[in-house]
Parts: sequence; C-alpha cells; structure tokens
Amino acid sequence: MAVFLTAKLKVHNPSRRKRAILDAALEEYTRAYAYLLGWARQNLALLEERGRYKGRFTEKAIRAALPPSSDMKHVRLHSSARDSLLIDVAGALCSYFQLREKDPTTAFPTCRDPRPETYPDALKAFAAVTDDEREYNERRDRLLKVARGSVMPMFFCRPDAVPRHRNFSLLRDPARGTYYALLYLLPGDGADGRLTGAGNLVRMGWPQGTDPARETHRFRSRAGGALLLPLAFGKWHEREFLDRCIAGEANVRSAFLSRRDREGDDADYFIHVSFELHPDPVEPKTVLGVDRGLANLIALTVIDFEGRVIHQELHPGDDLFDFQKYVFTLYRDRQRRGKAIAGQRMVAKRNEEVCHRLANVIVSVAERYRSQVVLEWLSGFKERKKDFGRLKRAPLQRIQQILEYKLPLRGLPRPQYVGAAFTSKECPKCGYGRDVRGREVNRPSQDRFLCGQCGYETHADLNGSHNIARRFLARRLQGPRATLPTA
Ligand SMILES: [Zn+2]
Repeated sequence: MAVFLTAKLKVHNPSRRKRAILDAALEEYTRAYAYLLGWARQNLALLEERGRYKGRFTEKAIRAALPPSSDMKHVRLHSSARDSLLIDVAGALCSYFQLREKDPTTAFPTCRDPRPETYPDALKAFAAVTDDEREYNERRDRLLKVARGSVMPMFFCRPDAVPRHRNFSLLRDPARGTYYALLYLLPGDGADGRLTGAGNLVRMGWPQGTDPARETHRFRSRAGGALLLPLAFGKWHEREFLDRCIAGEANVRSAFLSRRDREGDDADYFIHVSFELHPDPVEPKTVLGVDRGLANLIALTVIDFEGRVIHQELHPGDDLFDFQKYVFTLYRDRQRRGKAIAGQRMVAKRNEEVCHRLANVIVSVAERYRSQVVLEWLSGFKERKKDFGRLKRAPLQRIQQILEYKLPLRGLPRPQYVGAAFTSKECPKCGYGRDVRGREVNRPSQDRFLCGQCGYETHADLNGSHNIARRFLARRLQGPRATLPTA
C-alpha cells in the first residue's frame, strides 16, 4: 500500500537575485492560473461536455479540453511549469465538477491576485456602505481572498527523474549532508541551467532500478531557466523523509513552491515535497481504544480479539491543563481591559508539541501491540459546559490528523472511529449502565468507576478507553448493530 506524505522544507537564505526570480515565477504562475480559470468559466459547457471519461469527470479529460500548453506561449514560465499549471488547474476544476454533482451550490474555484494594490482596494470596497446583502458578502469574500496571500502555490507535477531538465529535482550533497531543490521556473533551458556530470550533488528519489550513487551532478549557479535553492530542514524531516529517501524506501513524487508574505520583512519561501512510501503492512492483532479523560489527558486500553485487556496506560495532562488555564485567564483579563490578545502563536506552538507527543505515545503502543487504533467519533458532538477541564476537541482533532498519517507510515491501518456516548459509565464486565442517559451510579468520584451491579472497580478514564475498544470489536465481529461483549 502506498502512503503519500508531504515535507515542508524552507528555502534557506535566498539571495536577492533568487528572490526576484522566485517572485517573478510565482506571480506569473498566479496570473496564468487566473487566466485559465477565467477561460474555464466562459467555457463551462464545453468543459462539462468534454471533461468526462466513462461518465466521470477526470483531471486528464478536463486538461485535454483546456487551451494547450503551446497556446500559452505568452506565459513567461518554463515549458514544464506550463504543463504542471495545466494539471494543477484541471485538478481544481475536476474537484469542482465532482463536488457540484453532489451539491449544486459549490463555489467555482478561486485564484489569488498577485497585484499588491488589491488588498487596500478590497478593504476600501468592504468599508463602503451597502444595503445589498449579496454585495456585502461578495466584498467580504474578496477581502478574505486577497488577505490570504497574493500568489498561488506553484505546482511541479513530477521530479526530473530521468534527467530531461524539466520540473524539479531534490538534490543532496552527501559530503556536507545538505539538500537542495532545483526548480525549472522561467523560460529557457539553455546549457547554462543544466546539471552536468561529475560534481557533488546526487539526485534523490530515482525511479527504481537506477542507482543514484552512479551519477553525481554539478550545477552552474548562473542559470537560465533553473534555480538551485539550499533547503533548511529539521531532524524530524531528515529522519522521516530524507533518510528514508536515501535508503530507497521513499520516492520523490511532486512538489509545490509557496511564498509566505511577511509584513515589513522579506517573504519566506517553502518547497513542499511529496514522498511516496511503501511500508510493510502490519496485520492488526489487537484493538487499542483511545479516550480523552477527565482526570487525565488520554487513556489507552489494548484488548485482544477475545476482548481480554492486555495493556492500559494513562497520560496525565497537568502541564497542559495548567497552561490552558493560564492562557484562559490571560485572555479574559486582557479582554476585560480591552486589550488585544497576544501570544496566540506561542499557544499554538505549545498545543502542537503536546499533540505530537501524545500521537507518538499512541503510535508506539500501537506498534508494540500490533493494534488497530480506535478513537471517539467527534463530529456531531458539541462541547458541553461541564466538560471544562477535559481535553478540548481541537487538540484531539489534531491528534487524529497526526495519527491519520503516522499510523500508515508504520504500516498500521488508519484509525477507526466509534460513537463514544456513555463509554465512561458502562461496565465492561457485565454491561450494566449501557445507554442509560444521565445515570451516574457507576461513577462514585471523578476518577473511580464502580459497577452498581457486579462491583467491578477501575479508573474511570481507563474504563472509557476500554469501552471504546470494545465497541469497535463488537462492530467488527457482528456488524453495526452489535451488542457489546463483556469480559
Ligand atoms: Zn458490572
């Protein structure tokens, strides 16, 4: 099974000349993107007619109906970048057509606007008085759109694996342990912009069967159409992506170039490289239930397919709760005094750290016991007032997102979800308290679970995770209307 993952690598200290080339390419790409979308809007009927293959809209069929790459000679981009642009736009149109079949109100894809004067204009228009609600909404959408950033991320559809001096390459200097992206951005692929043999750079992610060590390349930095950019990366990126790529476990697939505008400062540039991995699939032998606890941050219970408990653990979240409480009080005080709320970045960073730490705990337990991970189904449930102090939904959703890619990376199945109503109040031994609304008899105190029928006693949070695992097991054994096994 193939797993696709994207690494976001920052372009390290680009020179002014390189910035100018990156900006020119990104802005030209955005203008061409807008042009194609405009063309598509005027030729919707034609695209709808020709954009299907065997009754379904496909990116390829839509791309064939768009103006050909050769018609876009006026677009000042490398020919391979024009090809990628067509794939990018056709992909956006394809998902638009597919969504619109289900929901006729689906909005037509939008494009950012590279002209720097648009934001003040949009702001002025938004501030002007109107009594037309539709016009007001349009102005607001326009403002939000231009506020998001001024250029579209630039797509590179494939790596230059068989060197043809097109698209992009991820390169490595083995002697220094540094990485580079080579991007073909602007027109012209004269000899200047080419890699030549016998240098210090090795291409990453060759098609299988080719030995990357056999050829190294030297790049002349005075390029016509190509740009060599050193990349900054952290230990995590190196371990998860780059090392695996060198070991031949991961292949380079496609990339995006993006720009993050910063007020009063130089912009940051990022290369988002998509890797394809083929981890050995692990056949699950146990079920790992994960619950967000009241007294603890997360509770884990591993049960085997007979329902026997194999392992349980709790992760206290005192530090996170203290921190959330601190932030809560800080915000409240500042709001009372009418001050702006600062420090959101710090809060976000801290939350992100905790989420990754907890997701790693779950992944390592799942690996140790070869588990199918089961989580509570969050959508449809509103946060209740009395849940204050409980792990909030947002971090839990973040943990789920992380698990959605980290588990497949280890060859484990993606997480499964069960409804979690009353899981903390149900007895896993005798089934007492099942689906009884508001029944508190099984919970003598915050962190104890005591069965009113059979006397089974345990930690309340562990009980919740135990029941989540049992619910999944029951569904797996008997289908969606199953009754729960007791053990
Ligand atoms: Zn019981």
